[in-house]
Amino acid sequence: MYTKFKCNGCSRKTEFLWLDQLDTPEGYKAYQCMSCGAVGVKNIAEALHIPDSEIHRCSKCGGWQFIKNGCHTCALIEAR
Ligand SMILES: [Zn+2]
Ligand SMILES: [Zn+2]
Repeated sequence: MYTKFKCNGCSRKTEFLWLDQLDTPEGYKAYQCMSCGAVGVKNIAEALHIPDSEIHRCSKCGGWQFIKNGCHTCALIEAR
């Protein structure tokens, strides 16, 4: 079974293939849409199979984050 996301390319909830060979920041993964072939980087907290009870929107950047892990979008911004 593949991870499902909302694709930015074809705007469908579709299946994504992880591209584990690409280097991505902590909390993000490179993927390819199996519907339109778009390649991009996704916040793993946005995967559709993750229950809403485990994620919430960050109060600082508005990105999705795991409640127990803290916001990796903010961590990325601060690291720059
Ligand atoms: Zn797509
Ligand atoms: Zn944040």
